[in-house]
Amino acid sequence: MKHESDDQTKWRCEKCQQELELAKVKVRYMEGNFEVDLMKCPICNQVFIDESLALGKMKEVEEGLEDK
Ligand SMILES: [Zn+2]
Repeated sequence: MKHESDDQTKWRCEKCQQELELAKVKVRYMEGNFEVDLMKCPICNQVFIDESLALGKMKEVEEGLEDK
């Protein structure tokens, strides 16, 4: 294992070859709507959900709900 690049892996939209940007996206989960930061293509608005990220966010959301 070696780290040659200090630059994070950038996600690109396969269609547009455009770097994705973080955007607040509304998602529906457990009968509710939430806004989470997800990677989105600024050109075609396709949202790319990294599963682990999405699950992490959902966990935060769930914990937030349980708090109340
Ligand atoms: Zn795109």
